[in-house]
Amino acid sequence: MNHDPHCIFCKIVAGQIPSKKVYEDDDLLAFHDINPWAPVHILIVPKRHITSMADVTMDDQALLGRMLALSPRLMRELGVGNGYRHVINTGADGGQEVMHLHLHVFGGPRPWKKG
Ligand code: 5GP
Ligand code: ZN
Repeated sequence: MNHDPHCIFCKIVAGQIPSKKVYEDDDLLAFHDINPWAPVHILIVPKRHITSMADVTMDDQALLGRMLALSPRLMRELGVGNGYRHVINTGADGGQEVMHLHLHVFGGPRPWKKG
């Protein structure tokens, strides 16, 4: 499935729900988390609906690589110069709340609310 009409991040990708975008290309969208844990907290998502890491296959390796490889550029552009943290939550026990694959990137001066 490329687009799940009930998925909140698919709605953000489609522009049906507003977001503070930081980057967009044909395959990826990055936007600020609505409830940030750190001074800078962004989410990098594939535009295609992938439910979680549990659904990723070797065919997705370029996409996953691009999600990670994009993050240093975005953190630099957002003024984060002293380090940052990546998190991907998978499934219920992994603490995943939104069932559309997303890479959290946290940065900015500590203390952070969480993480
Ligand atoms: P998870 O726990 O699934 O890894 O993280 C989901 C994240 O999505 C949470 O940090 C939450 O604040 C964020 N989030 C949920 N709904 C929205 C929304 O409508 N807009 C934005 N920008 N972030 C959202
Ligand atoms: Zn989705």
